[in-house]
Amino acid sequence: METMRPNTVFNDYFISSIVENMQEAVLLYDTNGSLLFFNRAAEKLGLTNLLENRLCYLEEQALVPEEQWPARLLLNGEQVHGAYWLKPKKGPVHILQIDGFPIYKEDSGLAGGLVVSHDITERKWAEQRLEMSEQRYKSLFEYHPDIVCWFDLKGNLIKANAAIEGVSGLTRKEMEGKQLLETVEPSFRRRTVLHFFRAARGKPQHFEVQARGRREPLIDLQVTLIPMVTSGRITGIYAIVQDISQRKAAERLVHTLAYQDPLTGLANRQFFNEQLRFCIEEAEKTDSSAVVLFIDLDRFKWINDTLGHSAGDRLVTLIAQRIKSCIGEQDILARIGGDEFTLLMPGARRMQAERMAAVIIDALSAPFSLDGNEYYITASIGASVYPNDGLTAEALMKNADAAMYRAKEQGKNAFRLYRSEMNIRMHRKLIMDKELRRALEAEELTLQYQPQWDLQEGRIVGMEALLRWKHPVSGYISPAEFIPLAEETGFIVPMGEWVLETACSQYREWQKAGMPPIRLAVNLSVRQFQDGNLLRMVDRVLQRTGIHPGHLELEVTESIAAIHVDFIKGRLNELKALGVQIAIDDFGTGYSSLSYLKRFPIDRLKIDQSFIREMISDEADYSIVKAIIAMARSLRLEVIAEGVEEQSQANRLRELGCMEIQGYFFSRPLSIEDMGRLLFPTDL
Ligand code: C2E
Ligand code: MG
Ligand code: MG
Repeated sequence: METMRPNTVFNDYFISSIVENMQEAVLLYDTNGSLLFFNRAAEKLGLTNLLENRLCYLEEQALVPEEQWPARLLLNGEQVHGAYWLKPKKGPVHILQIDGFPIYKEDSGLAGGLVVSHDITERKWAEQRLEMSEQRYKSLFEYHPDIVCWFDLKGNLIKANAAIEGVSGLTRKEMEGKQLLETVEPSFRRRTVLHFFRAARGKPQHFEVQARGRREPLIDLQVTLIPMVTSGRITGIYAIVQDISQRKAAERLVHTLAYQDPLTGLANRQFFNEQLRFCIEEAEKTDSSAVVLFIDLDRFKWINDTLGHSAGDRLVTLIAQRIKSCIGEQDILARIGGDEFTLLMPGARRMQAERMAAVIIDALSAPFSLDGNEYYITASIGASVYPNDGLTAEALMKNADAAMYRAKEQGKNAFRLYRSEMNIRMHRKLIMDKELRRALEAEELTLQYQPQWDLQEGRIVGMEALLRWKHPVSGYISPAEFIPLAEETGFIVPMGEWVLETACSQYREWQKAGMPPIRLAVNLSVRQFQDGNLLRMVDRVLQRTGIHPGHLELEVTESIAAIHVDFIKGRLNELKALGVQIAIDDFGTGYSSLSYLKRFPIDRLKIDQSFIREMISDEADYSIVKAIIAMARSLRLEVIAEGVEEQSQANRLRELGCMEIQGYFFSRPLSIEDMGRLLFPTDL
């Protein structure tokens, strides 16, 4: 082919060198379809060898069949104009624009064909890239989940994507032309205008507004405004608007949760503290006062443990409602712990605190019914007053808490105003708790035994084990002082086990020494019933010490009945099944619900010493003692009088039919040695 080039076809050297050096490929065919001439570009592209370098239609991507090759078409007298892929055997693909023209001789028709082709690869790629980016932009705009729109500089909506329909509830057509401000909630309009002006001056803006949309209530929107710059001028504002209602609602919820007790809907500790601080600031400015009430439910932890937490929760809710019904409009009630409430009374003084506490205690005194059961709830309340009892929120809370503790110590269901020595007492308690644990280890705890005497038979019929703590420094500490503390801390459980074990072992010793089979009474604290091991513990002690279960009497106070009758009944029945006896201690002081007497497996009532003390001089106490004895008899219960100190009391009790007594009249609580001497007088 080289031989044909260049002068045989283009005689003119000038023309032939132009053709040879053209960017475009040029190919010339004769009427047989044989290639007469091709230039360098044609060879370089590979158009000279279509057998090896395949030609494809650009659109369909299909191979051009041989009979469709441009050269062939030309020889049919057709013109060719089209874009093709050329896929060479080696090297990159080219996109070619091919134009072909049949060549006619002036007289004798078709003389051949001319194909001119230029490489449009670059241009095609560029076109495609542009198209793709336009499409991308379009889909970004159209399908963007946020509202994308633009405004003219007057704030009229020019165009918006589909997302605007979902939020506004109007079609795009209806929205277009509308003023930006029309939908914005009035209180946000000023701010929105300001942001719009800033954006119009070239500064992108980012802010939140509320708007009226399709839904109620208002929707929260996050707006980004971007100046639209064309030919170096700001001609409009792009806006990207995101519906953040859900996030905002969640944030608001978190805020509520952060300040609200989720169970009762009351304020929580944090909110209370903030309000208290705020209230103190105000009180300082206006020279007024404020009261903090600390309300702690008595024995509620125990209720929770026995009822189960879900019922406990419902009970707390009922209690919260009842307390709430007592308070004033200005007052803030919070639940700051499982069974702890605080009440802030802005402007109140001591007298109002006292009155409020009385109202709350009274309101709580009516039983709560839950799942068909009735529960008696009491609370201990302490109060501190600003500015007398503290100038800071912390001090007022701490002191109200200390006062509450004092109320608890003094028998619960009570109210105390803070006094400065209370904190000292709290401190002492903490030390005492530590000391008590040490005391058990150090064997500073001992038992005394107080005989129980039968007036009729004139002999000892039993004895009560009473705990004593001989402190190396403070001397004897009364159980009345350390037992409530041990109950609170739970230390009563191991300590109670020690008492039972020690008393039973001692009893066994005396029995071996020939003591007749009398009763051994041991006190059980309410708190010990909470301990799932109580039954096993009692059983184990009986086994280990070998005392007859029928000789052991467990004393429980009346207050156990006030909480969960069925639970206690179950526990008492289990204990009874071991063969031990049950006595109700301090009878008459606790809750006056007598119905449990019938339902509980009780053997004996111990009339509280407070009635015995005044029974000679006080008509009312006498009547109570008389009534208790009569009731015990009708219920076939044994009865014993506690705290009998005088002959006259003993005589009167005998007349009323109560034959058993315990008290200083017959004997004080005795050491082991003294009790031994009483039991075995012959040993003297
Ligand atoms: P309690 O079970 O009612 O015990 C009777 C209390 O009255 C004892 O006080 C006793 O010393 C006192 N007492 C006895 N006779 C007379 C009297 O004629 N006149 C006066 N004024 N008092 C008399 P104590 O020993 O101080 O015990 C106080 C309370 O401490 C007991 O009351 C009991 O509830 C509790 N306690 C004592 N030991 C234990 C124990 O080991 N475990 C438990 N859980 N509680 C105990
Ligand atoms: Mg007792
Ligand atoms: Mg008693």
